[in-house]
Amino acid sequence: MNGQVARMWSMKEVRPGIRVGFTDTTAGNLAFHVGDDPARVAEHRAAVAAVAAAAGGSIAWMNQVHGAHTAVVAGGEQGSAAPTADAMVLDPANVSGPAAGLAVMVADCVPVVLVGTGSGGEPLLGVAHAGRPGVEAGVIDSVVSQLQHAGAAGIEAWLGPSICGSCYEVPEDMRASVAARVPQAHATTSWGTPALDLPAAVLAQLRAHGVTAHASGICTLEDSRYYSHRRSQRDGEPEGRFIGLVTATPRP
Ligand SMILES: [Zn+2]
Repeated sequence: MNGQVARMWSMKEVRPGIRVGFTDTTAGNLAFHVGDDPARVAEHRAAVAAVAAAAGGSIAWMNQVHGAHTAVVAGGEQGSAAPTADAMVLDPANVSGPAAGLAVMVADCVPVVLVGTGSGGEPLLGVAHAGRPGVEAGVIDSVVSQLQHAGAAGIEAWLGPSICGSCYEVPEDMRASVAARVPQAHATTSWGTPALDLPAAVLAQLRAHGVTAHASGICTLEDSRYYSHRRSQRDGEPEGRFIGLVTATPRP
């Protein structure tokens, strides 16, 4: 697992049977695509599933490509291929024990976890990977629309740690392009250069759909408890990914 590293992250019950969590570096790297030993990544993923009471492969993962496609996945399917998508919605018809969940991998992009309630009272879960391209392409619109299409009401969203608007330096033309789509993204770094405030943009996109959204307030570049792509590049350290995770236990 993680040697002597104590686990510092946890899942929080946000509604009966629904748990939301964001891992940190004490969960280890959870991505296969960043050059890590696959056996070690698999161990890390199994440990996370155990904490989430979703052991046995019932957490769905995505092959993320910075797009805006939302995949509808069935819970409890072992060994099914990860969909190529940047958001997922869990079809509650297939939720079976011990628990089913959705994961989104990040290291500076905004991990978003969504929970809504279906017309029969069933939980409707979603996740989204909102980096700069996803914010521009409308991944938040996509996942919220898919949840609403499934009949979700009372949608609530939690943002996990991501790079903040004071740190995420971008070229002037990129800031202009994203801010034209989402004005709240316009930001300036703490050293006075053009930047993007992705969490502010995601919050605005969610709230425009009537979603109750909770900010994280944690910056991955500044807080070494989380993986940060830009910090890894700056410091020449190995890449890693942490996750946003939402799970549901079957209703009695
Ligand atoms: Zn920051």
